[in-house]
Amino acid sequence: MTRPEDALAAPEEPADLLLTNARIYTSDARRPNASAVAIRGKTIVFVGESRDRAVASLVGARTRVVDVRGRAIVPGIVDAHTHPSLVLTRWHLALPAGGDVRGQLRHLQAYAEEHPPAEVPFIYAEYYDSDGVWGPGGPSAAIIDEYVSDRPVLMQDSSDHAATINTRMLELLEVDASTPIAPNPNDHAMQFERGADGVTPTGHVLEGAWTLFADRMWQKIGWAPPTRATPELLSTFIDALSSQGVSALFDAITDEHLLGSAAELERRGRLNMHYHGAVQFSSLDDLSDAISEVRRLEARFGSPLIRVNALKLFLDGTNEIGTSSVLEPFALEGHEHDHGVLRMGRDDLVEAMRILNGERIDLHLHVVGDNGFRVALDAVEQARATAGAAWALQVTLAHAELVDPEDMKRVAGLGVFINWTCHWSGGYFGLGAAAWLGWDRFVRMYQFNAIIRSGGVVSYGSDVVSDYEAHRADPYFGMQIAHTRLDPEETLGPSRGTVPGTSMREAPDARISREDLLDGYTRNGALQLRLGDRLGSIEEGKHANLAILNQDPMTVDPDRIRDTAPDAVLFEGALIRGEFPDLPDVSDPHRSAGGRKRTRGTAGAEGDE
Ligand SMILES: [Zn+2]
Repeated sequence: MTRPEDALAAPEEPADLLLTNARIYTSDARRPNASAVAIRGKTIVFVGESRDRAVASLVGARTRVVDVRGRAIVPGIVDAHTHPSLVLTRWHLALPAGGDVRGQLRHLQAYAEEHPPAEVPFIYAEYYDSDGVWGPGGPSAAIIDEYVSDRPVLMQDSSDHAATINTRMLELLEVDASTPIAPNPNDHAMQFERGADGVTPTGHVLEGAWTLFADRMWQKIGWAPPTRATPELLSTFIDALSSQGVSALFDAITDEHLLGSAAELERRGRLNMHYHGAVQFSSLDDLSDAISEVRRLEARFGSPLIRVNALKLFLDGTNEIGTSSVLEPFALEGHEHDHGVLRMGRDDLVEAMRILNGERIDLHLHVVGDNGFRVALDAVEQARATAGAAWALQVTLAHAELVDPEDMKRVAGLGVFINWTCHWSGGYFGLGAAAWLGWDRFVRMYQFNAIIRSGGVVSYGSDVVSDYEAHRADPYFGMQIAHTRLDPEETLGPSRGTVPGTSMREAPDARISREDLLDGYTRNGALQLRLGDRLGSIEEGKHANLAILNQDPMTVDPDRIRDTAPDAVLFEGALIRGEFPDLPDVSDPHRSAGGRKRTRGTAGAEGDE
């Protein structure tokens, strides 16, 4: 195929950069491996073997030739679902990890004693485990009150779909027995749970219902959390990702401050990232407003690197707190008739797809339970059949944690994209889902190989939402966990069968191969972002986005994949990390590998920006 870049450059025109003696994983099925790559401007002009005769003809007086000494090179990674808004969460209090809620509450108490209300008027603490032990009645305001009652406190559930707030916060929000259980008519999943009397709010809050009343609280306490990203804040996350070799991201819920910050970084020549964003909607009622917002943001910020052309919808909640939408009722006692929460029915979803297909705006759906997944596929099937040849909508189902085997087979045929969060593949969310789903369904969670084998396109993302977990956005950390089903930071508790005595997640055959992981993190992610013609593989004519790695993640011991880090990163042909002449000998045992990696718990000190 001839591309404009090739046509402009005469064949004998020398390359700017030639990397030789490499182990290149191209993510190009026609040529999966190579040892040399040449770049002119921002374009890859040659992929092949170092000894190819063509290589000599690419070298001119100004060509920089770098022997990478056998290093692995991979295409730029695509983080196809993440949340740069996490840069606004630095003021949160990080709680010690683990299921010991009382220990966490004592930590909270000590923090409150050190920081009086005048200094910290509101405490947002994260995270307690969904399956942590709160005692009879579950999480409640009364338990937090025993430790901190002099100011509003919110403790966030590790599922990030629930929280527990204290009585002071209920008062400031003016939430009481007279408040509707589900105060948002457009989203019945947002709820204030009630106690045994059926009317008194317990303090347990689902899907951020408290945010509907937050303005009252901010006014009364004379403080409000930062809501506007700045270029300086955003660059901390962008730079961390790009130094790990990520060259494109999908901001699953964007806004004008994030995009404005990205645009400003681009103006300063510091973005080093393809930044694609989605706008959230929740029903057919707010769909047209959301479409207008996509148009407005794209008109204002659209650029060679920035694009806004997708909408995001939460179709259900999450397994850990029983808000996913499931085919069979939950196994938890008292929930024998409970199928969870479906936040948009099939007919409305078909109608939304019809409208979006006409608008040429893509759809990104949060889907966790097997009924949500089936409803989404059924809707695609129907909308697609109705549209016929006019069907161009790209639908991505993010998370897909529990999928009926029959539906796995339908993914490829319907042309639906699946996006998975690799670093969740081990024990990150504990056993909370097992209580709701029962063990048989729990061990069927997080299975993607059947979808991949049948030709479905699976991409990967980090889905990090808080500074607390920002370090887990490292794609090699994710690859290791999806490849081993074992989280180096979060144990799952003793396994009940397949792998006794370890905390590996069940179903070892659900481990994803490194080849499939690399494909998903590169080529498939680029396809999901509609950047497949430019990004996603090391191929002649594509943009030069690649990372030269300190070790080969495809052959290193599985439990060391996470130590992979780029020695050098090229973004759009420019060296943005590392220095070629300084590339250390890869066999030197004294060089530090992965020294930049942070461990959890380093975040959380407020006001550290
Ligand atoms: Zn997300």
